[in-house]
Amino acid sequence: MKRVLLKLSGEALAGDKKTGFDEATCADAARQVKTLVDEGLQVAIVIGGGNFWRGRTSESMERTKADQIGMLATVMNCIYVSDAFRTAGMETEVYTPFVCGAFTELFSKDKAVKALNEGKVVFFAGGTGHPYFSTDTATALRAIEIEADAILLAKSIDGVYDSDPAVNKDAVKYDSITMEEVLDQKLGVIDLTATIMCLENKMPLAVFGLNEENSIENLMKGKFNGTYVTV
Ligand code: UDP
Repeated sequence: MKRVLLKLSGEALAGDKKTGFDEATCADAARQVKTLVDEGLQVAIVIGGGNFWRGRTSESMERTKADQIGMLATVMNCIYVSDAFRTAGMETEVYTPFVCGAFTELFSKDKAVKALNEGKVVFFAGGTGHPYFSTDTATALRAIEIEADAILLAKSIDGVYDSDPAVNKDAVKYDSITMEEVLDQKLGVIDLTATIMCLENKMPLAVFGLNEENSIENLMKGKFNGTYVTV
């Protein structure tokens, strides 16, 4: 693989605290990504917002406004994590699909690909810029746009299971599964819109636990313990 899009779930970034940032988790993700960037891998990153806000969980607000707060949560996450990446010695750019003044750059494929070719880690913050979408959709969209080889999905759970392991203690983890099976079995690895985009555009996924030791590095070095979703 030459170019990947790494999706970090907001929840996984919060570690055991479940909200906000867990500094050690973010620093460790930065350390692992640096070893890959140093070896020449191009890395783009999308971060969820669930450690701060989810639009659909606010019942009293208009969804459009609630989703705007969610998108801004992902901007905060990207600014935080990109700073951790800079501290770890990488160069970064943060792009948003809407103007954020001096905080971020306005997204364009050309600018992002140029930065990737220069060895910078690029962050796609602010989701798709539209309500009723998710950072899963933004992940699929940006991965396809930048012609990534695969999406690496770092979650708070360590792979794809046939049922929710938090509910069913006999849940079985898949080593590999097709995107069509994910869709047919409604496994919810990524949301439906994102699953269909990946299927249509032949974008494979590798799903793994962010909080497992060296999980990002292991994935790229053939010591993968998660689930491959093939297309
Ligand atoms: N969001 C949005 N459009 C996007 C991406 C995100 O409206 O393109 C909002 C939405 O409110 C979502 C929140 O940002 O709940 C956080 O994004 P994430 O994908 O982490 O949320 P989740 O899928 O966990 O709700």
